[in-house]
Amino acid sequence: MLPHYVVVMKETNPDVVAYISWNNQGPEMPLTFKRIFISFGAQYKGFAKGCRPLIGIDGCHLKGNFNGCLLSAIALYANQQIFPIAYAVVSEESKDSWTYFFRCLRTALADSGRDDWTFMSDRMKRQFPGPYFEAYFWQAANAYNEWVFTKAMDKMKGLDPAAYHYLREIDLKLWTRFKFDPTICCDDNTNNFTESFNATLGLDRVLPIMTIRRNCMVRIATRQATGEEWQENDITPYAKNEIKKANDDSRFCQLHCSGRGEWEVVEGRTSFPLNMVQRTCMCGRWQISGIPCKHACRVINNNRQSPAQFVSKYYSVAYYRATYDLTIHPMPDPTQWPPADIPFIAPLK
Ligand SMILES: [Zn+2]
Repeated sequence: MLPHYVVVMKETNPDVVAYISWNNQGPEMPLTFKRIFISFGAQYKGFAKGCRPLIGIDGCHLKGNFNGCLLSAIALYANQQIFPIAYAVVSEESKDSWTYFFRCLRTALADSGRDDWTFMSDRMKRQFPGPYFEAYFWQAANAYNEWVFTKAMDKMKGLDPAAYHYLREIDLKLWTRFKFDPTICCDDNTNNFTESFNATLGLDRVLPIMTIRRNCMVRIATRQATGEEWQENDITPYAKNEIKKANDDSRFCQLHCSGRGEWEVVEGRTSFPLNMVQRTCMCGRWQISGIPCKHACRVINNNRQSPAQFVSKYYSVAYYRATYDLTIHPMPDPTQWPPADIPFIAPLK
C-alpha cells in the first residue's frame, strides 16, 4: 500500500518531500517495491532553521517481516540530542542507494538558503591492528588543539609506525577535533548519535515505514511542548550543564590581563592565550564546541558577566524552538484513505 500511503501523506502533510519507486518486470510479473524516501516539512525546515549545519548519516538493516535497509540523516538540536531530518528504505546499502538518498535530501534542503553542510558517517570504520593504536588514536582524535594532537601522534609514531602512517594519509579535518570547522559548533567525533536513532525507533515488524513516521511525529510534539516551558532568552539544559562543569573547573585557573579583551589564563604549568573579542582560547575547546571553556568561564566571571551570554546561538532556547516550530500532521489508517487509482506493489523479498 506504500504508493497510496505517499499520496495520503502528501494530502495530510503538503510540504512533505516523499518519493517512492517500484520495479516493473513485465506484464505477467507483480510490481515490486524498490525504495522510498520521506522528509516532512517539520523535519527539513526545522533542521535548516534551528540546527547546526551537521548531518550524520547511517544505514542499518531492517529486522522484521521485510528485508531492506533503513538510511537516515540525523542532526543534533540545541539540547545536543538527535533530530531526524529524513529517512529512506531501500533494498540494500549500495552506492546507488546512497546516491538516491543524497539526491532526495538535496531536494528537501534546496530552499533552505544554506549549502554549508558537514557530513558525518562511519565509512572509515575499520579495525587497525596494533596494541597502541586505539589509545593514541583517541587521544589524537579528541585533541582540541594541535599541541595535544602532535604529542599523541608522536607517541604513536614511536610505538606503531604503520598506524601512524595510515592516519597521516587521511585529511585531518575528517577525524581530529582541532581541525573541525568552528562554524558547526560540534565537538562530537563519533557517529554514535545517528546509530541511536535506529535504536530508539523500536521498529514495528509489520509496518516499519509507517511506524517511523509516527515515532518522528510524537518525538517532535513532545519536545515542542518541553521547549515552551523554557525561558525565551535562555540556553538549553545541555549548555547549562556544560557551563556548570566549566565553572567548577575554572577555579583552578589564574588570570593575567593583557588588555583589550586579551588574557593569559594559567592552568597548572600551561598558559592559554584567550581573546574575548574573537571568542577564542588556545585550548581550542571554546571555538570548536561553541560553549566557553573553563578558561573563558574564569575570565567571564572575573568580568562579572554571565558565561551563558557567550554560548553559541545553536544552544539557545530560541534555536530549539525554531527547530520544533512545525509539526508532522496526523494521518488516518488505510481503511479511511480516499480511493485512488494507484497500484499495489509487492514487498521486498
Ligand atoms: Zn580554554
